Amino acid sequence: MARMPGAAWRPVVNTHKNGVLEHRGLVLHVQDGTNSPHGFFNNPAKPVSSDFWVSTAGRIEQYVETGVDYAFAQHLGNPYYASVETEGHPDTPLTAAQVEGVAHIYAWGNSTFGWPLHVVDSTTQPGLTWHGVGGDAWGGHPHCPGDKRKAQRGRIIARATEILALDTDGEPGIDLGRLIALTRSDPGAAQDHPTYPDGVRLVAGALHAEGLLDNINNDGHFGCLTITAYAAWQRRLGYEGAAADGVPDQPSLTKLGQRHGFMVTA
Ligand SMILES: [Zn+2]
Repeated sequence: MARMPGAAWRPVVNTHKNGVLEHRGLVLHVQDGTNSPHGFFNNPAKPVSSDFWVSTAGRIEQYVETGVDYAFAQHLGNPYYASVETEGHPDTPLTAAQVEGVAHIYAWGNSTFGWPLHVVDSTTQPGLTWHGVGGDAWGGHPHCPGDKRKAQRGRIIARATEILALDTDGEPGIDLGRLIALTRSDPGAAQDHPTYPDGVRLVAGALHAEGLLDNINNDGHFGCLTITAYAAWQRRLGYEGAAADGVPDQPSLTKLGQRHGFMVTA
């Protein structure tokens, strides 16, 4: 899976298809600017881009098929490491929301590609590294992302470790990406479409307890009745029109889990 659940998917033209050679980890960058760089990254006249961008408020945008296609972020390092741009400037630290956002990206990379949970100052070792360490071979950006942001990488890894531990300890976790995949699969294609019995059971049980779903069938599919019930749950939370489409999303599923004893994982 190359797209991260919870990130806004905004593909750009500045990408090298099927160019990734290894999944060594993530390179931390600073935007040295504000607002989404999507338009800039989608302009073929200037071949620059990144896998991810995290705003100061914690919004995550994803621009390329991470782990498959590479972005144009760190020159010779592109085929080996994914990249995250962080809104703001090299002389200011990441906001708490940005630390959280980058940690979620890293936790997803750990579960998806096996990015190891540690900080490195290297262009070859796997882990969370930084742009300037690559010198000219990585495009010659010695001040990216700046000392303050570099120093926050330990906190990012610690938080990513916590996020991953939450996924397996205590309350059961529901993988939002797997749930969404169920709702997208064609019910007519009976044989090999995906199932997720544990996740569906938790959600259906919670919807039943809310009085929104009469019968719980436990075939592991997120069927029409469940989608209808989930849309009713979204409307109860204030979602209107097309927003209440019955496809689980992070805020509504988190709310449901808080009331019924499960947590949402990436
Ligand atoms: Zn950079």
